[in-house]
Amino acid sequence: MHLLNAGRAALGTVRRYSLRPAPAHAGSWLPTKSSGAGDQNIWLMGPPGAGKTSVGRIVAQKLGLPAVDVDDDVLEKVWGMPVAAKLAAIGWESFLEEEAQALCSFAAAGSVVSLTGSNPLHAGAMQHVTRSGVVVYLDVAAEDILPRMTLMKLNGIVGHEAGVCMRDILGYRKPFYERWLDVRVLCGVGDTLEQVAEKVLSALERYQNPDADTYVSTRGGGGQSEAAAKTHFSDVAIEGLAPDGGLYVPRHSFSKIDAREWLRLAGMSYAELAATILEKCIHPSDVPVFTLHAMTSRAYGGFSGGAVAPVRHLEGNQYVQELFHGPTASFKDLALQLMPQLFSHCLPPACNSLVLVATSGDTGSAVLSAFGGLGDGEAGRGRTGVLVFYPRDGVSDVQRMQMASYREGNARAVSVCSDFDFCQRSIKRMFGEEGLAGHLAAEYGTVLSTANSINWARLLPQVVYHASAYLDLFREGVVSFGEPVDVCVPSGNFGNAMSALYAKRMGIPIRKIICASNRNRIISDFLATGEFDLRGRLLAASASPAINILKPSNMERFLWHASGEDGRLVAELYARLESERRFAVPPALLAAMRQEVQAGWCGEEECAAVIRDVHRLTGYVMDPHTAVAKAFAPAVLGALQVNKVPDDPLEQLRMLGLLAGSGPEVHQQVVRCVEESSGKPPRVCPAEYGALVQEVESMVEDCFLRVM
Ligand SMILES: *Cc1c(COP(=O)(O)O)cnc(C)c1O
Repeated sequence: MHLLNAGRAALGTVRRYSLRPAPAHAGSWLPTKSSGAGDQNIWLMGPPGAGKTSVGRIVAQKLGLPAVDVDDDVLEKVWGMPVAAKLAAIGWESFLEEEAQALCSFAAAGSVVSLTGSNPLHAGAMQHVTRSGVVVYLDVAAEDILPRMTLMKLNGIVGHEAGVCMRDILGYRKPFYERWLDVRVLCGVGDTLEQVAEKVLSALERYQNPDADTYVSTRGGGGQSEAAAKTHFSDVAIEGLAPDGGLYVPRHSFSKIDAREWLRLAGMSYAELAATILEKCIHPSDVPVFTLHAMTSRAYGGFSGGAVAPVRHLEGNQYVQELFHGPTASFKDLALQLMPQLFSHCLPPACNSLVLVATSGDTGSAVLSAFGGLGDGEAGRGRTGVLVFYPRDGVSDVQRMQMASYREGNARAVSVCSDFDFCQRSIKRMFGEEGLAGHLAAEYGTVLSTANSINWARLLPQVVYHASAYLDLFREGVVSFGEPVDVCVPSGNFGNAMSALYAKRMGIPIRKIICASNRNRIISDFLATGEFDLRGRLLAASASPAINILKPSNMERFLWHASGEDGRLVAELYARLESERRFAVPPALLAAMRQEVQAGWCGEEECAAVIRDVHRLTGYVMDPHTAVAKAFAPAVLGALQVNKVPDDPLEQLRMLGLLAGSGPEVHQQVVRCVEESSGKPPRVCPAEYGALVQEVESMVEDCFLRVM
């Protein structure tokens, strides 16, 4: 959960987003001679009034290709009468059929063809279309289309579906367009036809070049190898860490969404918003647009209470974003409901993967729920397993019960009679052991992977909730678009903060990102002094264990960006950290970091006082990381000075529900999980490395067939 301090002060340092002129194109899509794809067409698709004919003409002219309009150049010619007259003569059903027949008998090559608005309703017609080129969907704002449709209706061109209002026609057809598209062109509210045509050209250019979106390591020097230059999203999702030990970052600047496009996004559901943002960052050759949409609707369809990440007013100009409505009530659900789907899609054929996770709390249940819930039809589902190790005494009662409900199948949890550090160290050791890796690869075709936020596919989905928070504030009139907000995030691995930085790069008007730490305050000390110093620091227990972290891994991404993408410097700093347990950044880099990020910390007593004060003033029950009340119920009840904290976790949850006057409500799925799992003994493993390896091997044996 985040505090969004929606300040309205006019600040000199705030850069508002301005519209850049679209880049000029000089015929870079040439399906005719140069690309050797001579017979490929560019098919423009979209609802009536989207501007297909006009945009098609502009695009064709810029590319030096012939323009064809199915309405004027095909249907009218074949039928020998205006389209409206034909429709009136034969009726809607027969019209669709005859329209499809006419299209199938038409053989275009190397042309820009504008389809009719109704072609995509006919599967046979569209199969013909997809065989000979790329289908581009002009996704135009309803407010831009409706006035044009009204004019067309007067001419009898649309309105086939008698008695249906035009907004409903748009809604009905949208899934058909989304089914057949190869490329979506997201048009901003009020975009001109010329602007749309420019977007079509850029989108085609990206589509035909799978190397448009590649990734580099934060530790790579200027001349990264040829192989590294061809690292795609799929590689990054499966590999996690770069071979040189760095983290993957996009090679080119993060794709920007312009202000008019954000206005479109403001009208979308969370799942649509997620898909649209991810489309801009994941190349369709890695994950096709249609698949991406299916994934996000699965991921975010199961959140409780309708809204995925709702923003609530707290007091004054402070707002809280609630990130605990996922199926396990963990903040981690926001990333982890999506990440395993991306992961299993990207898993190479004939390769199994076992994801190993050590957790001190929320990550465990979120990972188990997400990987365990992969759908049967999903690519890679049967080839992906997840094994979670958690310290027997290091997690809360509720978390232990949540995890214990997963013991078998492709998602398992094992309770280890030791601490978190032992679990984490054992997993790292397994990754480093070539004997084990070789054995699993040779015998079972299985590779070991991980699912924490060093993985780009885990971090990327987090950009979405920051955008969603801002768009919510905009929709509710709290800010006008462009007015900046500050984002305050509880910070452990710096993933939350890093994803806010990426949201800002994509064009969300964020002014400062404020990192809040508990007494394990390395981030705030680092930003105060410029010195990252692990010497003499011991991890201290706290009421907010999810941010008990001394090496915030995503800080490396931040250093890379803030240093002007200086991989050599980042590699140097981390080598020093390895040998001396400390490094210091140059003053210019520190200044650049402070420009974007501020940090602070709060001790245990102060944290308890905040929970108490917020509850007294507003009735809102806030947990120690402003996250989920469930995991830390005893701490919250203690802070609220409840005299008798019940021993039974279920009773604790009920009591929190009673105390929460103005929210949040008790998470029903968690209550159900706790009820069901009580009495189910967890799978237990002694504190020996060999025993953990045994767990890995037996899971691989149970889940994956031996390679013959
Ligand atoms: C994981 C977690 C955080 C920290 O997120 P980072 O990306 O590691 O900074 C904060 N709050 C809660 C509740 C969490 O589970």
